Amino acid sequence: MSQVRGAARRPGTTRNTWANWAGNVTSRPLRTASPSTTADVVAAVRQAAEDGLPVKAVGTGHSFTAAAVTDGLLIRPERLAGVHQVDRGNGTVTVAAGTPLKQLNQTLSAHGLSLANMGDIMEQTVSGAISTGTHGTGRDSASLAAQVTALELVTADGSVLHCSEKENPDVFAAARVGLGALGVITAVTFAVEPEFLLTAREEPMSFDRVKAEFDQLVAENEHFEFFWFPHTESCVTKRNNRSQGPAAPLGRIGSWFEDELVSNGVFQAACSVGRAVPAAVPGLARLAGRALSARTYTDVPYKVFTSPRRVRFVEMEYALPREAAIEALRELRALIERSRLRVGFPVEVRTAPADDIPLSTASGRDTVYLAVHMYRGTPYRAYFSAAERIMIEHGGRPHWGKLHSRDAASLEGVYPRFTEFTALRARLDPERLFANPYLRRVLGD
Ligand SMILES: Cc1cc2nc3c(=O)[nH]c(=O)nc-3n(C[C@H](O)[C@H](O)[C@H](O)COP(=O)(O)OP(=O)(O)OC[C@H]3O[C@@H](n4cnc5c(N)ncnc54)[C@H](O)[C@@H]3O)c2cc1C
Repeated sequence: MSQVRGAARRPGTTRNTWANWAGNVTSRPLRTASPSTTADVVAAVRQAAEDGLPVKAVGTGHSFTAAAVTDGLLIRPERLAGVHQVDRGNGTVTVAAGTPLKQLNQTLSAHGLSLANMGDIMEQTVSGAISTGTHGTGRDSASLAAQVTALELVTADGSVLHCSEKENPDVFAAARVGLGALGVITAVTFAVEPEFLLTAREEPMSFDRVKAEFDQLVAENEHFEFFWFPHTESCVTKRNNRSQGPAAPLGRIGSWFEDELVSNGVFQAACSVGRAVPAAVPGLARLAGRALSARTYTDVPYKVFTSPRRVRFVEMEYALPREAAIEALRELRALIERSRLRVGFPVEVRTAPADDIPLSTASGRDTVYLAVHMYRGTPYRAYFSAAERIMIEHGGRPHWGKLHSRDAASLEGVYPRFTEFTALRARLDPERLFANPYLRRVLGD
């Protein structure tokens, strides 16, 4: 049964406002609903349409863009959570749309199953994560949305559409990365496989070596990524490959020291100093680049792919054609070196194979992701704008959930299937019930 209230309530936000994880986006919805079934969602959507209110389903607010903002009806995810079906025969799991990725991963592991690939954290909801194209790094395996085999969507007229390659295939194709523009997703089915072990090798390398060996490192590893610390020569690389085991997880103390103390606690302190005294940033970056040492461990996939991120930041991430990545990174480095910018957060570099989703950032092309971050509360616009100019120059596509300045006119040029998506949006939501200012900017009116 749905709970409808006159004001949004969320831990960490004030009584009448909704705020995202980074705290850079807030909204004041007129009404909130916490549906627990598809029928509840249908009723809430129909009522809002009747009352002339726009509708927005939100996840856990981990997007840095205003993708989840509404001044109308906010549909909250918490009660729309849980596992519907684990189908071993077909290798799929179906979950309610508001299920956190953490719950999905832990449930799968308890069943001896796993997703093939995932991003850096597992706090987001499944619907929020797929809707903006959340990805990890992979040579052969792609984003979370690319692992979806079916979904259920409540559209603007209150219809419930079952979507897969066989049912409503045109909607399925687009709604996997739907930006919340096509309707409210109520359930998602993922392809899963028997749980496997991954061996992670984390190793410091010089910037020049990573640049020179990048293609080889990507080709030789199932999941390769690296972090480059601006103002330094230092990179930390991470190579994850399937292994026969045995499992050799990080010890409790080792993982607490590296992941909590160094990566979160010490890094948090360094960021605070850097924010107060920008001139200290290059020195702190050199220390940070040296603080992490080489380590190897073997564990179930979600414990290798994801880690806690407690230091709050803002981020912009661009998807570039694979062949442009190293040149773009070189230009980014030159930009930082010739400017007065002081960048205390590493640049993250990941890859994805081409996929077939119209608005996926990896749609139709092998991709490298370059992500820039700044500690929350530090001026970031000059850095992000300058970095964005480089990304645009190389045909980049911005992550839908991370900061960027693009609009529909410019995005149409980098997404060959852009109008396929907007035509579907016009058909499913002619009155723009699901619109908000962000969607009007990136998709048009
Ligand atoms: C610390 C941190 C780490 C991150 N790591 C990664 C990473 O490794 N890789 C990566 O690609 N991204 C990453 N992100 C970005 C994040 O994964 C995306 O922004 C994601 O969309 C957030 O999911 P959410 O559940 O918080 O959704 P929200 O941010 O709350 O919503 C995102 C979008 O989904 C829509 N939506 C939510 N639920 C529904 C629904 N039921 N039906 C229809 N639309 C819906 C919303 O309307 C909105 O448009 C990270 C973000 C943070 C803060």
